[in-house]
Amino acid sequence: MAVTVRFAPSPTGRIHAGNIRTALINWMFAHAKHGRLILRLDDTDAERSTEEFAAGIREDLAWLGLDWAEQVRQSDRFARYDAAVEKLKAGGRLYPAYETPEELELKRKRQLARGRPPVYDRAALKLNEEERTRLEAKGCKPHWRFKLESRDVVWDDLVRGRQHVDAASLSDPVLVRADGTYLYTLPSVVDDIDLGITHVIRGEDHVVNTAPQIQLFEALSATAPAFGHHSLLVGAEGQALSKRDRSLSIEGLREEGIEALAVTTYVATLGTSDPVAPHANLDELARGFDFGKLSRAPARFDPHELRLLNAKVLHMLPFSAVAGRLSAMGVSGGEAFWHAVQSNLSVLADAAAWWRVVNGPLKPVITDASICDQAVVLLPPEPWDEQTWERLAAAVKQATGAKGKALFQPLRLALTAREHGPELKHLLPLIGKARATARLEGKTA
Ligand code: GLU
Repeated sequence: MAVTVRFAPSPTGRIHAGNIRTALINWMFAHAKHGRLILRLDDTDAERSTEEFAAGIREDLAWLGLDWAEQVRQSDRFARYDAAVEKLKAGGRLYPAYETPEELELKRKRQLARGRPPVYDRAALKLNEEERTRLEAKGCKPHWRFKLESRDVVWDDLVRGRQHVDAASLSDPVLVRADGTYLYTLPSVVDDIDLGITHVIRGEDHVVNTAPQIQLFEALSATAPAFGHHSLLVGAEGQALSKRDRSLSIEGLREEGIEALAVTTYVATLGTSDPVAPHANLDELARGFDFGKLSRAPARFDPHELRLLNAKVLHMLPFSAVAGRLSAMGVSGGEAFWHAVQSNLSVLADAAAWWRVVNGPLKPVITDASICDQAVVLLPPEPWDEQTWERLAAAVKQATGAKGKALFQPLRLALTAREHGPELKHLLPLIGKARATARLEGKTA
């Protein structure tokens, strides 16, 4: 059967690196298996879901290169959920319950005080017709619980291995609230059935939902898909990631100038046995994907490590991968400029500063006028190439007797106004004779 997976964010905020880990694992698995990835917007919560967040999620995924075959919105599918509710009611698997949150809390406290697990006691199941009518006449609106079968639920988790859950130890989950709105549990299963999802891959915060959901698949006459629950990402200090922390949001990382490929490479390697190392593209990442590599321990997201990887990614990128963005930044130095500066960049935006060094105007720093004056006289006619710098330095050395740092530093400072930077053999031909002459003479050029 063709692999079909889904990434199912709620559009109630921008996505962060942790959400992206789920998206990426799904994407890599689908890609490696020539399957499909569906983007499912879990927007049943009409108050908190917004179109702006949905657009933001699509923008972030597109920026990262994580494409999807189809988009589905839960808010378009209420009729399907209503039909599933009717089927569950008809099968005696959905029952009305009338306890208020306060009553439920009291029950839980009592159970805990007696040393019992706080499992819902199914009191509502024991109500007869007359008692229910009386409650409803008083204005009590029921919420609806799914009646679990008391048996062991077993699945072979793609990450965690064989899992056993005794359904008798669980409360019957509420599927529909008293106001008629749906909790996440049922819509997710109905969608997974209708969309032919073969593998549900999600964070381990959802492990608790799996046994009830497997029973729901069965109650709706469907075969449950395979499940895989990966560990969660935590911050460098071990803290949970929050949708509110902008420095870990994909939007925040993009604004900081982190490359999409650095984010995907970093997030794909986190929590695996692979070293953090640059990859050429997403296809290469997908080829290396294997559930067996995923550790069950929480994976630490360290922004510092990401920045280091970002520099390594930039140092590998071919000119074709950045040409458009460089010209949008007003950098028109072409391929020769890119090769001259790429190994000096931490973020792509640094290229603009080096472009100003090449293209000017730049106020030179003159620390040894006699060396600079000699260099002006010895500048060869153009065209210049990568040997020009070495020949010039050798000639100035011969004429002045200066060598080593005493020779190179005054020339570098005059030509670039900086102590460090890309190799002068690459920069000098880009600076060109007219600007080099003016700068060595101490003039802004
Ligand atoms: N909307 C849920 C979430 O973001 C989806 C969970 C699932 O993948 O089943 O956590």
